[in-house]
Amino acid sequence: MRIVLTGASGGIGRSLMATLATAHDMIGVVRAPRPAAAGATYVSSADKPALAAALADADCVIHCALDAKAKGRDFLPVNRALNTEILEGALGGRCRLYVFVSSQVVYSGTDPATPAGYREDQELVLTPREDDYTRLKIESEREVIAACAAAGVDYLVIRPTVVMGPGMAWSEGVVAASKFVAAGVRGRTMNLVVVSDLSRQVQLLIEGGARNDSFNIGTTNVRSEDYFAQVGALAGRRPLFVPDGLMRGLARFIPSTLWFFGRDVAIDTDKLKAATGFRPERPLAGYFARRPVHAAPNSLDALRQHLSSPHPFRTHGQGYYLWFNPQHADDRVAMAAYSGIVSLEADRIRVRAGTRLAEICDALDARGLQLATLPEFLGISAGACFFVDVHGSSREHFSMYELIEDIRYLDDTGEEIVAARDEALWAELRARDSRFILTELTFRTEPASWLSNRMVWEKETDLDAYLDGGWRANLATTIQWYPHYRQLLVYHVNRTGGPDRGAAPSIAPFRGLPYHWQRGVLAARLHGRTLQVDRAFRILAPWRELWFESFLEWLYDRRRAMWRDMEMCLTIEDGRSFIAQLRRLLDRGDMSVRKRASIGLRFSHDRVTGRDYVWVEFVSDAPELVERVIAMARELATEGVRFHRGKYVPR
Ligand SMILES: Cc1cc2nc3c(=O)[nH]c(=O)nc-3n(C[C@H](O)[C@H](O)[C@H](O)COP(=O)(O)OP(=O)(O)OC[C@H]3O[C@@H](n4cnc5c(N)ncnc54)[C@H](O)[C@@H]3O)c2cc1C
Repeated sequence: MRIVLTGASGGIGRSLMATLATAHDMIGVVRAPRPAAAGATYVSSADKPALAAALADADCVIHCALDAKAKGRDFLPVNRALNTEILEGALGGRCRLYVFVSSQVVYSGTDPATPAGYREDQELVLTPREDDYTRLKIESEREVIAACAAAGVDYLVIRPTVVMGPGMAWSEGVVAASKFVAAGVRGRTMNLVVVSDLSRQVQLLIEGGARNDSFNIGTTNVRSEDYFAQVGALAGRRPLFVPDGLMRGLARFIPSTLWFFGRDVAIDTDKLKAATGFRPERPLAGYFARRPVHAAPNSLDALRQHLSSPHPFRTHGQGYYLWFNPQHADDRVAMAAYSGIVSLEADRIRVRAGTRLAEICDALDARGLQLATLPEFLGISAGACFFVDVHGSSREHFSMYELIEDIRYLDDTGEEIVAARDEALWAELRARDSRFILTELTFRTEPASWLSNRMVWEKETDLDAYLDGGWRANLATTIQWYPHYRQLLVYHVNRTGGPDRGAAPSIAPFRGLPYHWQRGVLAARLHGRTLQVDRAFRILAPWRELWFESFLEWLYDRRRAMWRDMEMCLTIEDGRSFIAQLRRLLDRGDMSVRKRASIGLRFSHDRVTGRDYVWVEFVSDAPELVERVIAMARELATEGVRFHRGKYVPR
């Protein structure tokens, strides 16, 4: 059947769309246009000619839309007009079945027909006490039935009860609203239905030939105290019930939309069960969207338990990549608690995947050893170095991945597998981002050494010389480019024999600070010196920890803040054209970045490909700007763009 569904982007609409698209040709009517998916295309409700054409050409129209943006006095006239527009559009075409999505609120003005609850065949009473939503649903049901009878078109009226499931207000919404106080009502009956069951029930009614009838769409009647106890359990709060006496007093002030809290009544769904034969059984908890589990196991056995979980999970180290990307809804297994040095023999160090690089560097330094390359921040976990190109700036190494000699991971049965370097296997394992746990890694080390870092402010015009090969003059060249001020902060890192009494020790320069802060911090901490000399790992990775990390965690995780910290890797040749184009756009004013903003450039050599690369880091709270920069790089790069997987990863 060719089915037009209005309200296709709402909670019920999305579910109906997905269920019915498995067997029908679906056309969803939505406010904002969206791309077609398997079995489904979309029409914008604002595109009146396209909407009229879709309605006229439908075998079946399901009207599920409500204009909730129309408030107050506008609500009724706007929604009445919407209902009439869809109904007339459908009946004026070749529609054979019109399905109207009503609601159980239509019963609010009357008493149940039998002790088993409200039945579809009882007369609906519209009293002056009914609110606009209830009034709209009762009036529209009557309008649909009369118009379909007059046009000789079949109809179905469906009356969903309390709709539950992912994204629904009565499951996720109520749990979220109970974060601080879980208030509840006792002594009432609520009829619940999970949105995917609702869609299946509608599908079975349509395909099973139910016509010219009304159906309560629900699955189970539950006590309201059980419902709120479940809400409280999910929100981590003990439910506070409104006292019965107070509830009786409040009953007449409860809006008719929430009529089922005003009195204790059930909804009878026997007719639906008889028509569809569908009787989903689930415990009360199954009506609520499952909350993802966030675990931090500290033993192999605890890690193994996740592999036997039926729910999808993703493993992470310290979880920094989550700061820069949209949140995912899978379970999370953090490796932070699975940490520690397993062995340090000769020049090999074996560590658990959750071990921070700081712990590894300290253990190595105590034995006169070091890692040949490092990122600037030592809070990163060892495990991340397998999946992510964790890098600094180096003429000799592309990333820390190069230093890994072997890994251990859990296979599907929970057995710990040891895998020596095997490029094909490792490439496949690195690409896994779900249900995969890397447990240990062994890094190759080298004798400890000393490095110097000369930090110099230079002119933007020097950029070309660095990109043309000047970066090779140092062991590591890192550039922070401030386009607005046309200035570069350049780190020249080189080998040195040992401590230098006149030099400053390594400090965390917080590369990427706003320009004036950066100058101020360096001036205050280096006291006019530009040269720092220290153990190599302290020069390469001057940040051991972020003292404001818990604040950032709160900001990213709780407040859902998201800065796009994006870093992409281009061949040095592609990098030159990209940066030249970026400078042209910035100079002409065709692209603008904030005054304080800077762009990070780091250079690396890859021994495997024998090629030189430049990493370009762009941090912004303006997503459109970041996407524009990415699009530009993709267009210009002749040899592809590789994104740092531990930072923002574009789709
Ligand atoms: C302050 C700061 C400074 C930074 N500086 C640099 C820098 O100088 N150079 C640089 O290259 N990067 C830098 N980064 C980025 C950093 O490398 C990434 O964010 C990295 O992912 C962080 O490590 P993590 O332990 O939090 O790993 P996560 O972000 O938790 O994980 C990274 C990826 O690895 C996977 N993963 C990690 N561990 C496991 C495991 N045991 N099993 C299965 N999958 C796993 C995750 O699923 C994810 O896909 C910096 C980040 C921050 C926050």
